[in-house]
Amino acid sequence: MRILIVEDEPELARHIRAALLRQGHTAEVEADGAAALQAALRGQPDLVLLDINLPTRNGFEVLAGLRQERCPALVLMLTARGEVNDRIKGLKAGADDYLAKPFALDELVARVEALGRRGGGPQTGTGLQVADLHVNVPQRLVVRAGRTIALSPREFDLLQVLMQEPGRVFARTELRDRVWQGEHDFDARIIDMFITRLRRKIDVGFDPPLLHTRRQVGYLIQPPA
Ligand code: CA
Repeated sequence: MRILIVEDEPELARHIRAALLRQGHTAEVEADGAAALQAALRGQPDLVLLDINLPTRNGFEVLAGLRQERCPALVLMLTARGEVNDRIKGLKAGADDYLAKPFALDELVARVEALGRRGGGPQTGTGLQVADLHVNVPQRLVVRAGRTIALSPREFDLLQVLMQEPGRVFARTELRDRVWQGEHDFDARIIDMFITRLRRKIDVGFDPPLLHTRRQVGYLIQPPA
């Protein structure tokens, strides 16, 4: 993968870059928020490793800029350990995952590899349709009622799993296994967060709602009866 490391601690950035290069990735470093946003929009990396406290623009501002410009890169936020609010804030703003600092480099590499495997499950056909919601899997394109909807890579993967079996209720644990394969220490609230984000994009402003919650059970996509 082509990875952009946004980190203003030179030693840490250097170690991260070396670890990623050893795994066969290409990696560049930006230490400044505004410069990082420009670099990401220009360079179209596959993944952005994003620190929060940065000069000029903080990580949340960089993330907002990326998503506003519909940058499709995966974003892994580097948050301070215990700062649960930062995690939630980052996920709400469109991050795909987070890693708490300080972390072991092996942990970082594993997380990057796991994100890179996104959408690695079997894909059935090229088009998925529920009511007026259409998903083109190879192009990773989502259209509802003629309007193109921009999803982050994880949001897309989650929608794809739900759309493959309309009407079936997926438990959180199953969604975790299918969308977040192989990640330990997984917090089920992350799924709820992604469902909220997905609902905001595919259902708010459209009628009828297609994404449903079965309390205590899970989530499903269902066409109107
Ligand atoms: Ca920093």
